[in-house]
Amino acid sequence: MTPEQQRQYLKHMGVPVWVRRHQPEPEAVAPEVIREVQAEVPVAVEAAPPAVPPSTSTDLDWPALQTAVAGCHACGLHQYRSNTVFGVGDPSARWMIVGEGPGADEDQQGEPFVGRAGQLLNAMIKACGAERAQVYIANVVKCRPPENRNPLPQEVASCIGYLQRQIELVQPQLILAVGKVAAQTLLQSEEPIGRLRGQVYQYGEQAIPLVVTYHPAYLLRKPTEKAKAWDDLKQALRIITPL
Ligand code: SF4
Repeated sequence: MTPEQQRQYLKHMGVPVWVRRHQPEPEAVAPEVIREVQAEVPVAVEAAPPAVPPSTSTDLDWPALQTAVAGCHACGLHQYRSNTVFGVGDPSARWMIVGEGPGADEDQQGEPFVGRAGQLLNAMIKACGAERAQVYIANVVKCRPPENRNPLPQEVASCIGYLQRQIELVQPQLILAVGKVAAQTLLQSEEPIGRLRGQVYQYGEQAIPLVVTYHPAYLLRKPTEKAKAWDDLKQALRIITPL
């Protein structure tokens, strides 16, 4: 990706791109950061809070897992769904992006992160040098909560085994938890997302690095927080790039 393309993607995210004065060839901040990342800067990993224990619920392969989700009635959310929303992307991706649960558009299309929030997530992924299809995207719960409310603890408890198995199958080298529900669930924490951001955690027995950022839907409501989200993505890029 060229620096100009990256500048455009950051613009689409709404992140200000600062250009140096008095330089013969102006450079954007973000591409510089990405080049620094590629220089394999070591990253300090914070002591992790208790992570979700590895899944013991299933040893299903991809097709069996998808079939199990499609027919699941393990919690009350099955009553509200038009479609289950399993996950999309590269099943061998380096980056796994985990959100909360399907909204109205996702429920209709059976795919996570579509609609305006999905477009912003795509722009965030592009700003990191990858396409949506080159990461793996899934949610904590696979069925839409009514009125777009947060999933209840018992609903998360019923569904989390599917996400755990997806993580085991993808074996990502980085997990990006987007939004409060994903972050609190994966980190087994009740801390607000503002406090969970800014650290690198370790997930599961494989100690997969986990970074927290804001949900794109929140960023659409509060665009002034986009710069912080870009800081989070830079932190993730310092660990490993998506490609
Ligand atoms: Fe099953 Fe998860 Fe849907 Fe609940 S949300 S019915 S546990 S797939």
